[in-house]
Parts: sequence; C-alpha cells; structure tokens
Amino acid sequence: VLAVEGLRVTFPGVNPVRGVSFSLGRGESVGVVGESGSGKSVTALALARLIEDPGQVHADRLEFLGKPLPEADRRTLGTSFAMVFQDPMTSFNPTQRVGAQLAEVARYHQGLPRGAAFARAVDRLRAVRLPGAARRARQLPHEFSGGMRQRAMIGMGLMGTPALIVADEPTTALDVTVQRRVLRLLADVREADDVAILLISHDMGVIRQLCDRVLVMYAGRIVEDLPAAELTSDARHPYTRALLAAVP
Ligand code: ATP
Ligand code: MG
Repeated sequence: VLAVEGLRVTFPGVNPVRGVSFSLGRGESVGVVGESGSGKSVTALALARLIEDPGQVHADRLEFLGKPLPEADRRTLGTSFAMVFQDPMTSFNPTQRVGAQLAEVARYHQGLPRGAAFARAVDRLRAVRLPGAARRARQLPHEFSGGMRQRAMIGMGLMGTPALIVADEPTTALDVTVQRRVLRLLADVREADDVAILLISHDMGVIRQLCDRVLVMYAGRIVEDLPAAELTSDARHPYTRALLAAVP
C-alpha cells in the first residue's frame, strides 16, 4: 500500500530525515524504533502530508495505493490514510463534541449529510468499543480519559476505509491495561479490514507483539529492516544492539 524511496525532510538548520526507504504491503504491520530525535515522527508527518511547507519534503518515490502520494487527492488520503498521535488531545478540537468531530470527517470526505455522518460516528465509536458510545459522542474531548480519547482517535481513522494507519506512540501516555486494550484494537482492525499499520514505539515488547517487521531508525536513516522475530542481539547496527541490550 505504501512505497517510500529516498524520503528526506529538511527544516531550516536541521535535516531530521536523510533518505528513508521502505515499503508496506496490504495488511502488513511494521514497527519503527529509534532513539529520541532520530526522525521517526517527522517521517510519519511527512507521509501523512502534515508538514506544511511542501518544499521541505523530498523523495525519489512516494506512492500510496499505487499512486504518487503528492497527487493522491485529499479525498483518497482523508479516507484511506489514518494517523494516530501520542496525545489525541492535540488533534481533537477541545471545544467541539467528539461525535461531531468524527462526523465532520464523513461530511467532508464522503459528503454525508449531518445526521448520517453523526450516526456513522456513533457506530465507529462502538466499533472501537467505547462504552456508552451514543452518550460519549455528545461529550467534549476533555471529558474522556486518555485511553478513551486514543480509541476515539482510532475511531476517527475508521470513519473512512483506511488502507494504512500510522500510529506515533499511540500508547505511551496510557497505563498498562489501557495500553493493551488499544493495541488489541489495532490488531483487530488490522485483521478484520486488512489494514497496514506503521507503529512507532519505544516499547520493544509492543513491537514484537504487534509487528511482522521492524525498522530501526538512527540519525534520519533506516539502519535495519528485518522481521520482528529476527530482532536479536546479533543485529548489524551497533545502535540496534545497544537498544536490545537496554530491554529485557
Ligand atoms: P522521539 O522518540 O523523541 O519522539 P523522534 O524520532 O520522533 O523522537 P522527531 O520528532 O522526528 O524525532 O525529530 C527529529 C528532529 O527533527 C529533532 O531534532 C527535532 O528537533 C527536529 N524537528 C522536528 N519537527 C521540527 C520542526 N517542525 N521544525 C524544525 N525541526 C523539527
Ligand atoms: Mg516522535
């Protein structure tokens, strides 16, 4: 579903992404690890086309669902590409009810009328197993717990029919039980709908549990790309070995 070759991002004075290449097949789940500042989030933002100045993003090839990403129209991107952030509080509008925000996605991208869009929002909140979905849909984001917000964010991604979910540390801010629930949800979505997942995480346990493959990023480049099961202490790059030495 995604092919990336030679992706580079240049901000004034920093080059956080210096030539990233990888591909992701339908329903494949790939983890991204790497130390803080190695360029994981910037890579995710560039793929989601969330870097405002397009002149800062360069790539030899960037294809999503077989089409050049820059040309994929907003509708395709809006319904087939979902992004989940560490803290959804920053991506929800604090003054608008959660259901209305989800509904807006369907109104904008699928042209659904208000009532139908809201009904779909409630249905998607049920799909992410948010208890009392119909009531919750009428609440503001701050009335949700962190884990509920995270599930609602995934629900927002499911308003369309995503082929890819990019999740940047989706469980870092959550306690262990809620973490497990959110991860379970991602795994279920992947299985039910054959959605590819790109999961950025510091947690090797999580990556091993959820991912088929792992990319290790270091200083803006991918230094390893291997099956999750082969992520062992005889990895090639010294950073990967250090990373593995640091976790049980
Ligand atoms: P972490 O594990 O801490 O989340 P990361 O691998 O996600 O780290 P990035 O957020 O991708 O790291 O940041 C990579 C580098 O790019 C950092 O040096 C950061 O300061 C820089 N950077 C990120 N966003 C911007 C921006 N909008 N403008 C300028 N520099 C930025
Ligand atoms: Mg990050």
